[in-house]
Amino acid sequence: MDEWTIDDADDLYRIQRWGDGYFGVGDNGKLLALPDVDHREVPIALQDVVDELREQNVQFPVVMRFHDILKNRVRQLNESFATAIAEAGYDAPYRGVYPIKVNQIREVVDEIVKAGLPYNYGLEAGSKPELMAVLSYDIGTEALTICNGYKDEDFLRLAMLGRKMGRKVVVVIEKYSEIEPLLRIASEMEVEPIIGLRIKMRTKTEGKWSESSGERAKFGLTISEILNAIKLIQDSGFGDSIRMLHFHVGSQLSDIRFVRDAVQEAARIYARLVKRGIALTYLDIGGGLAVDYDGSSSSGHSSMNYTMNDYANGVVYGVKQVCDMEEVPHPTLVTESGRAITAHHSCVVMRVIGEIANDANPIDTDQVDDEHILVTNMRDLLADLTEGKNYQDAYNEALVLMEDAVNAFKLGVLGMEELARSESLYWRLMRAVSRGLKTEEFVSEDMRDVESLLGSQYLCNFSLFQSAADSWAIQQVLPVVPLTRLNQKPTRNCTIADITCDSDGRISQFIGEVGTSDTLALHELVPGESYYLALFMTGAYQDVMGDMHNLFGRLNEAHIFCDPKDPTGFYVEEFITGSTAGQVLKIMQYNPVAMADRVKEMVDRTVAAGALGSRDGVKLVDFYESCLSSYTYLRNA
Ligand SMILES: *Cc1c(COP(=O)(O)O)cnc(C)c1O
Repeated sequence: MDEWTIDDADDLYRIQRWGDGYFGVGDNGKLLALPDVDHREVPIALQDVVDELREQNVQFPVVMRFHDILKNRVRQLNESFATAIAEAGYDAPYRGVYPIKVNQIREVVDEIVKAGLPYNYGLEAGSKPELMAVLSYDIGTEALTICNGYKDEDFLRLAMLGRKMGRKVVVVIEKYSEIEPLLRIASEMEVEPIIGLRIKMRTKTEGKWSESSGERAKFGLTISEILNAIKLIQDSGFGDSIRMLHFHVGSQLSDIRFVRDAVQEAARIYARLVKRGIALTYLDIGGGLAVDYDGSSSSGHSSMNYTMNDYANGVVYGVKQVCDMEEVPHPTLVTESGRAITAHHSCVVMRVIGEIANDANPIDTDQVDDEHILVTNMRDLLADLTEGKNYQDAYNEALVLMEDAVNAFKLGVLGMEELARSESLYWRLMRAVSRGLKTEEFVSEDMRDVESLLGSQYLCNFSLFQSAADSWAIQQVLPVVPLTRLNQKPTRNCTIADITCDSDGRISQFIGEVGTSDTLALHELVPGESYYLALFMTGAYQDVMGDMHNLFGRLNEAHIFCDPKDPTGFYVEEFITGSTAGQVLKIMQYNPVAMADRVKEMVDRTVAAGALGSRDGVKLVDFYESCLSSYTYLRNA
């Protein structure tokens, strides 16, 4: 018979496909991280990290960050471009920037900056606070600092402060009205600005971020505005400061065709402007480099039909071809890839704390005297089924019988106990139908509902709204994989429910055999045994976009480094504690100290009235206070 192997697990969860080599399965069925490409012989078993954290009484859920993955992504991107440039005989360098909005966490940016130093890799900011963060990094005088987004005068002054420090700060004009204040402030502060112009591209992209391009895009200047802007800047004596042409047509560009089309349009505009005597030297093609969330290598929204090397080649050769044809020098190439740098490096590890199943905890259904005919009919139907009745007929009849039972209950004809019996028998029958269907060759469309009716919900200690906002907001597929038992066949079809009080707080879109699937195959829970899942590819946007729904707040974080000399292959360099109840309450304007005082007053009053002992009163107040300084998620879960 076909025995389940770890290769089957890898196929089912597509671990190596979306994992891009950073994740795999061990012979012992443990999920592995292989963050350091130079030391693939020392994999890190994620369950080992869990065990170590548990020993230190760390509460879950925990975000695990693999710094070596970040380092590797920065290197891979820069080297992809360097190789493409060398092979194409392209005459200018690549000067990428990391847009910090994708993940602004200091440790993440620290790591990216460090890894980027040999490549003159820069940073991009889209707001004042982001620019302040970016300016605090010493990235050298060659690397670019790019300012995107709408800018007020303070934003522009901060940018000019960066110029004063000798940095290559580029102010990208998103809107015509930003030109006048920029030139005024630059004159006032006596600095030479570096001006970028963002083009509103005609090329339309498809996908969830398609609104970033086309005529109705929020940002950028039309061709007429570009020409007017140039005239205005030249007339003000700043003509030589116009150095960059910029565009961004959307994130997660799944189809390389859109990258090629956009690059071609932009390169043509670039070349024509250079021919008009504009001193442009940089062409910034924005973000959009995708990641393969579902591992399907397709042009679907959660995937990509190209590799990082294909992307670099597409850009380099695309720009070269147009510039050569137009006989203008090749521009320095800039990309603002954020998702592709950060997505893989972090995952959310959570424990499954229970199962919600329609057929859990059934009532005793043995025949009793004076049983109502509706209950008896349901039992008979179940018996018929075991004797080989047609599954479709049994299923249809069961639906009708169950509806009759509910109606009879509503009319007061059927008792509560009898309704419970009907229900328990009904679920047993559905389970039998489902088992039977597995042996059938053809299964009709409505019969497939049986599987979703019987599907389990695995309840997990996490908040979707905090940890996977895009799964909720835009149905982004994120890989979910158990940390252990990958050498055993998973037998339960599940959805994942979180602990918020919101029915939307669930994951019901998973990597499927073809396309996506409503359920994910997971292992049956074993009483007394922990079963952990990880939600992967949360490093881009998910890490920082989370909200305060139900006041769960930020997660505990473990920052993990590879260490080939350590027997486990890793060490946790830093542990950052997540939100406490007191902290999230403060954000909502509460004062935890005053809250505890008030609770104490009320408890004291009860004690004074003789309804509670003094010692018990003190204990209750202490408990309330200790909860204020504890993690917001479920304790010991
Ligand atoms: C969001 C954004 C990016 C990052 O895009 P990714 O697709 O994550 O690489 C880059 N540039 C601009 C202007 C953006 O708004």
